[in-house]
Amino acid sequence: MAILEVKNVGKRFGGLQALGDVNLNVEENSCHAIIGPNGAGKSTLLNCLVGKLIPDTGSVMFDGQSVLGRKPYEINQMGISRVFQTPEIFGDLTVMENMMIPCFAKRDGSFRMHALESIAHEKDIVGKAEHMLEEMKLIDKRDMHSASMSRGDKRRLEIAMCLAQDPRLLLLDEPTAGMARADTNNTIDLLKQIKEERDITIAIIEHDMHVVFSLAERITVLAQGTPLVEDTPDNIKGHPKVREAYLGE
Ligand code: ADP
Ligand code: MG
Repeated sequence: MAILEVKNVGKRFGGLQALGDVNLNVEENSCHAIIGPNGAGKSTLLNCLVGKLIPDTGSVMFDGQSVLGRKPYEINQMGISRVFQTPEIFGDLTVMENMMIPCFAKRDGSFRMHALESIAHEKDIVGKAEHMLEEMKLIDKRDMHSASMSRGDKRRLEIAMCLAQDPRLLLLDEPTAGMARADTNNTIDLLKQIKEERDITIAIIEHDMHVVFSLAERITVLAQGTPLVEDTPDNIKGHPKVREAYLGE
């Protein structure tokens, strides 16, 4: 079953048709990669899925419900969490402080609590945040100023912050961009582990083919705002149109 259904989505910026007519289905519990050259419209598509942009045409359904017209936080509450192309952690805070933010936010209930309840609540939050940092192998950096972390660690922290919201669909925009090879490999391992251990669907935009072929079960190639082809990694590797348009052969 498709958890995400994108139908005939188009988006124009002034004279530029950034997305033409995008159709895309992401199967539940799969990892689906979206690849394509710079400027193909990949980030624009993701922005349309999370309510940062409103498409001019088409529909976006998540688990049978339309996301269009909903605010980003509402879409987030529906179960879609996104890691942006540029890191969005709070550099002034420590790793642990950053990690606690989504743990608080997840408890979106009322703050009308008695003092004792709120102490218990606080302990819960700390426990959950510590657990997430352990899972992401960041626990020994918990008191570090997050601005001084390596790029790979920042990404892992962001992924952890998304996962703390227990999303059903995790969207990643170029998670390994600018990472050293060792960090990239750690990120691949982490995402594999997340896929195995959680009931989660992953849609990933990625330019590093090593990452794509290590993780994805389906791949959509986007070129000039339109899907060129969608297939399994093996078929994509050998596809003449893809080799020509994307791999530059
Ligand atoms: P990708 O992520 O595949 O590199 P983008 O979705 O970022 O591509 O961009 C697709 C096209 O839309 C590019 O030509 C880009 O310059 C343009 N674009 C993206 N966002 C905006 C915007 N907010 N305003 C105007 N043009 C934009
Ligand atoms: Mg982009």
